[in-house]
Amino acid sequence: AASTPDLAALALPHVAALHAYTPGLQPTEPGWVKLNTNECPYPPSPLVAAAIAAELGGAEGAGGEGASLRLYPEPTSAALRAAIAAHHGGEDSGLGAANVCVGNGSDDILNLLVRCFCGAGVGEGGLGRGADSGAPNAASGRAGFSLPSYSLYPVLVGIANGQSVAIEFDRTMALPVEKIASSGASIFFLTSPNAPTGVGFGEREIEAVLAAYDGLLVVDEAYAPFARESALKLLARYPRLVVVRTFSKAYALAGIRVGYCLAHPQVIALLDRVRDSYNVSRLSQVAALAALSDTRYYAGVIRKVAATRDAYLARFASEAGWFTYPSQANFIFTEPRTRGGEMGAAVAQAAYDFLCERRVLVRHFPKHALTAPFLRISVGTDEQMLTLWNSLQAWLHDA
Ligand code: PMP
Repeated sequence: AASTPDLAALALPHVAALHAYTPGLQPTEPGWVKLNTNECPYPPSPLVAAAIAAELGGAEGAGGEGASLRLYPEPTSAALRAAIAAHHGGEDSGLGAANVCVGNGSDDILNLLVRCFCGAGVGEGGLGRGADSGAPNAASGRAGFSLPSYSLYPVLVGIANGQSVAIEFDRTMALPVEKIASSGASIFFLTSPNAPTGVGFGEREIEAVLAAYDGLLVVDEAYAPFARESALKLLARYPRLVVVRTFSKAYALAGIRVGYCLAHPQVIALLDRVRDSYNVSRLSQVAALAALSDTRYYAGVIRKVAATRDAYLARFASEAGWFTYPSQANFIFTEPRTRGGEMGAAVAQAAYDFLCERRVLVRHFPKHALTAPFLRISVGTDEQMLTLWNSLQAWLHDA
């Protein structure tokens, strides 16, 4: 048999050298208390399953169960765009369907943004002082983000063969406005509430970034439904602002893959140029529409998750004495310490391993911009949280 050629050698060098994003574990066997990927512990609104069943019942004239699946989905998710704009205030907030783009999860939206605003082959000069072009806002090809934040951003930038500008936040997570302003990035991803710390930035802090920085500011609000503040109100006054949201967390629909952004129609038009024609499936479109129609149900879910989070934030700080960020998201980022006060890599690893043995799955951040090893614990049901807490108490007793 002929030996296998080095097929990677045919790939573009930047692709051959890529480190792929590692998603959180999704165990297939039952029995895990799964608190590792910030999913919602409660089911979606019952209207979602009903809408999917109705869609599978077949579009009128399509004939037979599931027959509508023969047909492509509406390519722009038009009804969903309109419903999303209305959900965020509609005309009263200056928002219409032209301000919305819908994606296959918000990861798709982030990818579209990178593809439009970041990549190789543009000038060296950087934003505002760019590449002999003389244009006030010449593209630099660079994308910025904070450390720590969502580790998908640098992967998307790598795929686009663009340059990453990582801005290190210090342990206080105060927003370094000047560093962002002078980053030379054409697009900056600000995660608020931040992942993995959960720290939320206020409207006034985000406005300070918009005033100082002259690129496109993307505020990734995947966790904002659990937070006190959002950047949404700034959209009317700042055309360089993009707000990204998802149905995966607060709407309990991670499995259906729908996310969206709100932005100026010029930005939306760019995203639509690079978007896959049918990027949101039929079932996803009807599921998200049904979810949006049940605001009362979701208000209850969000209230419950936030209350559980606050109760456990208090427990981690006062009862366990662990340093824990004041999370405004649906997870808790905490620094394990033994009863004797020991901290560090071995301690966090031991706590993580102990939890794993008891089938409690959290996310372990061994190496981190904030230097110390942390555990990130998604907020679960009361029962799940009690299992987690009791397991940690058992570990503390032994450690
Ligand atoms: N942004 C942030 C900050 C996230 O943590 C996540 C989920 N891991 C996403 C975006 C993507 O979520 P999805 O693609 O499910 O909408």
